[in-house]
Amino acid sequence: ETIGANLDRIAARFPDRDALVECATGRRWTYRQFVADVDALATGLLDAGIVKGDRVGIWAPNRAEWTLVQYATAKIGAILVNINPAYRAHELEYVLNQAGIRMLVSAKTFKTSDYVAMVEQVRPKCAGLEQVVFLDAPEWERMAGATADPERLAAIQLSADDPINIQYTSGTTGFPKGATLSHHNILNNGFFVGELCGYTEQDRVAIVPPFYHCFGMVMGNLACTSHGAAMVIPSEGFDPAAALGAVAAERCTSLYGVPTMFIAELEHPDFDSFDLSSLRTGIMAGSPCPVEVMKQVIDRMGMREVAICYGMTETSPVSTQTRADDSLERRVSTVGRVGPHLEIKIVDPATGLTVPRGTPGELCTRGYSVMLGYWEQPDRTAEVIDAARWMHTGDLAVMDADGYVSITGRIKDMVIRGGENIYPREIEEFLYTHPDVVDAQVIGVPDAHYGEELMAWVRLREGAEPMTAESLREFCTGKLAHYKIPRYVHVVEEFPMTVTGKIRKVEMRERAKEILG
Ligand code: ATP
Ligand code: MG
Repeated sequence: ETIGANLDRIAARFPDRDALVECATGRRWTYRQFVADVDALATGLLDAGIVKGDRVGIWAPNRAEWTLVQYATAKIGAILVNINPAYRAHELEYVLNQAGIRMLVSAKTFKTSDYVAMVEQVRPKCAGLEQVVFLDAPEWERMAGATADPERLAAIQLSADDPINIQYTSGTTGFPKGATLSHHNILNNGFFVGELCGYTEQDRVAIVPPFYHCFGMVMGNLACTSHGAAMVIPSEGFDPAAALGAVAAERCTSLYGVPTMFIAELEHPDFDSFDLSSLRTGIMAGSPCPVEVMKQVIDRMGMREVAICYGMTETSPVSTQTRADDSLERRVSTVGRVGPHLEIKIVDPATGLTVPRGTPGELCTRGYSVMLGYWEQPDRTAEVIDAARWMHTGDLAVMDADGYVSITGRIKDMVIRGGENIYPREIEEFLYTHPDVVDAQVIGVPDAHYGEELMAWVRLREGAEPMTAESLREFCTGKLAHYKIPRYVHVVEEFPMTVTGKIRKVEMRERAKEILG
């Protein structure tokens, strides 16, 4: 099934249920109205000369229009290219050219960014970019307000295996890569995420992560529309009070976020004033989830069935997930088991052979979710997808005897100190148990003697005693093996982050070199 056909089928079943709610403006769409607006915009795109296979870029924060563009492009088989709202001009230019974007749909501004100025700046350098449509401008109103032509839409020959979407990875470990995904890839993944969360037309999902990322547009939007649930947009960009407010006002049953978002919500001074009693489930994903935070999400937010998902843009994204009936211990300390209709294995990165259960190695995934490839980068695709179609994730993981997987870090983040492999994640979990530590990240820094030494970056609770390398080492002594005790400590107000809220350890490592001189 294609994304457009799936939407039509679900909308016909639940025409009067809410499809989309934009909290900031109070705009809302039932499924009937949503499909009508999607069809109008799809026809408007055809009128503008966009045909199947053309790349249409979208550069906007979480607004209802993002979602309309997502489904309208899918209806006509145009390839939607998600552009990160935090990009600056040179990154925008790279994506416009790399993906060969013909039409860019863009917000005019977001936060302090003047998108209009950046678009004008790069336009002369993007020969293939024929049209720019700014949201709220007359050209958008004209395109979105076209008279829907169902016959013309129905005449377009679409296949579920067509590329429909290019999503650039978060850029946590380097420059983002454009994962090319089909209807089949992302619609199925969204559907299974919705099943995992038990969505029905009664559910209302607060989609906090950005739409430009698969967490928003697949695990959020597609999970909702494939089950008739409502997509609730709390705010354009992440705002903890808006997220909590949206849950309370819209009686959301599900809330999404990366760990840093849940931490900000739990720490919000007005936390207790929000009525979160409607919450039943939700998803935490994207980066390692501290056990403490997970427990608070269950206890203080009432998200009894909250799931941890693990995945990556290249795999649509979800590969493993915890389930509501897993023990609390497993739900807080693993990323669950393999998702439906997928395969996973853990291999020794050096030999490619599957390792015994309990031994760390590189996680590999195979199945319907694996991307078609990186857009126009066959060499990079061949580096990660092998001849048997296994996707090599670059993540280190351990699988236990029952098939539960724990992510122990990224191959690139592993620290080798004096010949010992050290997984920063393990030390971070330990540092969280320090009463003054709100957030902790551990990296390796070059060391003449040991090759690498450990450096902890910590964010401290307000009013905490100052922390020194000595006081931290004292705290660790006797509780961590001596070689796992960080040599350096650096106290920060915030960590360098991607817009998806992931900590950029590459940047931390660069800055650490400057700090240590
Ligand atoms: P880039 O590939 O550009 O460096 P990225 O890998 O962060 O960036 P994404 O595709 O957004 O880009 O993120 C996928 C990665 O996020 C995974 O490979 C994994 O390292 C991490 N990740 C995702 N979910 C989890 C999770 N539940 N626990 C731990 N890590 C996770
Ligand atoms: Mg990656």
